[in-house]
Amino acid sequence: MKPTLVLVGRPNVGKSTLFNRLTRTRDALVADMPGLTRDRHYGHGKLGDRPYLVVDTGGFEPLAKDGILHEMARQTEQAVAEADAIVFMVDGRAGITPQDKEIAKKLRRNPRPVVVAVNKAEGMERGVAAAEFHTLGLGEPLAISAAHGDGVRALLEQALAHFPEEEAAEAEDERAASLKVAIVGRPNVGKSTMINALLGEERMIAFDQPGTTRDAIGVDFERGGRRYMLIDTAGLRRKGRVFEAIEKFSVIKTLQSIEGANVVVLVLDARQDISDQDAHIAGFVIESGRALVIAVNKWDGLDAYRRSQIKSALEARLRFLDFADFHYVSALKGLGLNLVFRSVDAAYRAATADLSTPRLTRVLIDAAARQTPPRNGIFRPKLRYAHQGGRNPPVIVIHGNALDKLSDAYSRYLERAFRDAFRLKGTPLRIQYNTSD
Ligand code: GDP
Ligand code: GDP
Repeated sequence: MKPTLVLVGRPNVGKSTLFNRLTRTRDALVADMPGLTRDRHYGHGKLGDRPYLVVDTGGFEPLAKDGILHEMARQTEQAVAEADAIVFMVDGRAGITPQDKEIAKKLRRNPRPVVVAVNKAEGMERGVAAAEFHTLGLGEPLAISAAHGDGVRALLEQALAHFPEEEAAEAEDERAASLKVAIVGRPNVGKSTMINALLGEERMIAFDQPGTTRDAIGVDFERGGRRYMLIDTAGLRRKGRVFEAIEKFSVIKTLQSIEGANVVVLVLDARQDISDQDAHIAGFVIESGRALVIAVNKWDGLDAYRRSQIKSALEARLRFLDFADFHYVSALKGLGLNLVFRSVDAAYRAATADLSTPRLTRVLIDAAARQTPPRNGIFRPKLRYAHQGGRNPPVIVIHGNALDKLSDAYSRYLERAFRDAFRLKGTPLRIQYNTSD
């Protein structure tokens, strides 16, 4: 599993500047998908080829006008409790403040590794910038500049030092084992009802799996002759055989279950408008490269007019998810869940499909023949051949000339061509360009 880093510190020390720097490479992906907006607080980062999750506790939207500070503190504490490592940011120009000392006091009581990042240290002597922050009692402070990037790599190396690098080659026997499914969604959409419906019908093979460091729980079950493991879901608690919703919802846990799954079932409530939270969770699934199935729940008891209204609203808002199957279900009545699981299987097959170089190249050349890549200034992009650069999610590497001059629209056109030809339904698809001039 990817480690989760949480950025904490008083306002104005530079947390969001650092967050943006760490997650910046993902902006391109978001730009490629009209309608998908980035969550400004949760993102994916990479140190070399080591992925991690990063959380900025800085600008949490206060839930209520009263007790804003109280709510921010509560959310920060929850994030700190769920993190794997904490980056505590302070301002090297301002020096230690009473607020820094308060935060340090809390952090000294928490068991996770903490790295103190002394920000805004560009142009300062590193040792001097960091020196006074020793007194926070949280180990050797590191001088950085979030704005300029100085020291950021060393900071990450220290923060991630406690976590083993992931083995890249787990893919092979993965196909044979049970398929890991995460059922995610915001509170009240019907996740626990759905899980209970699934488990109630089927014989459970086993209960708890040996806990990992995060005490993740999986439940094995069988459906249609196939084995699945349900990943522990944020906001649910298990009471014996039955799952029930608890009030506290955790974005970090949701992210971690998405990361730990092979296929994500995103549950939406047909009776509520799509919220930013729904869209952000969907965005995380795409950023994580996980296969995805959408279950629009509470479809029972709606008349035909309401249903068509809801469908068109969903399609408009969630156009960036058109690669996934949508199912309209009722967890309460146990309707439509078979189709959801058929799509789960299909999505995973698509995510792990082997795409042959000759066929990829043929699809590419045909697509370019039907619609020539438009000239861009003096450049005329030329598509030559394609090969598969990875699985789960599939990566298609396209070779040719001036490929960096292809428009987003043309890129999406190519993606559709590959999706149609290989029936890549339910999986994100990454296209990379390898241009030779
Ligand atoms: P946050 O409230 O902790 O999220 O802080 P911000 O990221 O919004 O930064 C607060 C201010 O500090 C902004 O004006 C930033 O431009 C500035 N800032 C952030 N990082 C640096 C840095 O490395 N050097 C300098 N000089 N200013 C910085
Ligand atoms: P969770 O917070 O996502 O786990 O949501 P719950 O499973 O606790 O469901 C929230 C509420 O929605 C409960 O009152 C459920 O009875 C209700 N609910 C769940 N699924 C359905 C459904 O398919 N149809 C209808 N009408 N209500 C549902």
